[in-house]
Amino acid sequence: MSLSQRDRNHIWHPLTQHQNAPAPLGIVKAKGAFFWDEEGNDYIDGIASWYTAMYGHCNDHIIAAVSEQMRQLDLVVFTGFTHEPAVQLSEKLMGILPSNQQKIFFNDNGSTAVEAGMKMALQYHFNKGQKRDTLIAFEEGFHGDTFGAMSASGLSVYNGPFEDFFLKVVRIPTPKKDNLEEVVSQLKQLISENECAAFVYEPLVQGAAGMKFHSAEGLEQLLQLCQANDILCIADEVMTGFGKTGKHFASLHLDTLPDIICLSKALTAGVAPMSITSCSQKVFDAFLDEEITKGFFHAHTYSAHPLGCAAAIAGIDLLTSETLQKDIQRIQTSHEAFVKEVTSHPKVKEARSLGVILAIDLALEMDRYGKLRNEMYQYFMSQGVFLRPLGNTIYVLPPYVITNSELEKIYSAIRGMLEAI
Ligand SMILES: *Cc1c(COP(=O)(O)O)cnc(C)c1O
Repeated sequence: MSLSQRDRNHIWHPLTQHQNAPAPLGIVKAKGAFFWDEEGNDYIDGIASWYTAMYGHCNDHIIAAVSEQMRQLDLVVFTGFTHEPAVQLSEKLMGILPSNQQKIFFNDNGSTAVEAGMKMALQYHFNKGQKRDTLIAFEEGFHGDTFGAMSASGLSVYNGPFEDFFLKVVRIPTPKKDNLEEVVSQLKQLISENECAAFVYEPLVQGAAGMKFHSAEGLEQLLQLCQANDILCIADEVMTGFGKTGKHFASLHLDTLPDIICLSKALTAGVAPMSITSCSQKVFDAFLDEEITKGFFHAHTYSAHPLGCAAAIAGIDLLTSETLQKDIQRIQTSHEAFVKEVTSHPKVKEARSLGVILAIDLALEMDRYGKLRNEMYQYFMSQGVFLRPLGNTIYVLPPYVITNSELEKIYSAIRGMLEAI
């Protein structure tokens, strides 16, 4: 029996309606920008497996570092103990994170990184004797699937059954050129009417919403307004982190720095599940007290897993190398040219790019997981290109190691799809 058939017996897949979903494809191998199915077909990973494998699948440098670490030390409890990979990773992160970040807290995945960030913010105020019970978030944001992260997420496709159980969250639209004044005044009003603890946001690019961009100057104003009211700014860089927007972090496109940053996905290069919530000294200091419960009593068993740390250290080596920075430039330039080319296509409503992120909104109505969207997905797969359109938005977020001819193959598949649809 094939993997795909055996899978049917016992496996429950994420984001899947099993009543009518096609059988999943059995994947047996991945290397660089490619993976292979059990029948031997290859596919270009056009979204770097949800933007994790940015240095290419099974990258030799990363695999070597992780294998070596595996022989040296596996998991030890991270309360009361520390180890070289965690300490070294914290030092490496200080070299690339926004300059106000000082402390590194470890979690398991993107959702729990956000969850921890929100708990830090709520307890920050609690420890100062202030009752602040409201979070601010963008409409259509996505922050993960645990309860806190889900509460902050505005994408109702995922939230329906749970909304009655959410934390208190108020929402503002993302700032664009034409609505900035309106958004600022809306935020002012929300701040005056609620006890706001924190603002959770995806800086510059809302990933799950369909790679939607907003203005850096606009975001800057919102952050300033929040910080003037001691509302902690939590940048969810789970998607944007580690070079996607052309800088190491999207927050580095702004002058106003976030108080807390959430990292995962490309952090460990697709090799191990791990995440980080970093914060400024000001946040950390609010937890220092003679009273033990003023500390942050939040832990995950696999905190600072040495293998995840080793993968992350090796990933940062690559990210900061000249070769890789040139690759990011190369992909950025290539995307810009493709945006120019497709913008005027009659079936394209808008095309945009930032760093290695390319997004094309089609001038066609489509449900997020509807029939037409699924046909597009199948078309791309038939061309040997893995892309996961978000409704009528096609996006490409390739591994940095993708070659120009592999990129061209993705663009060709998109051109072909625009004719076929
Ligand atoms: C993927 C994602 C998350 C959730 O991360 P998981 O590891 O899937 O829990 C949170 N925020 C953003 C911006 C993401 O893209």
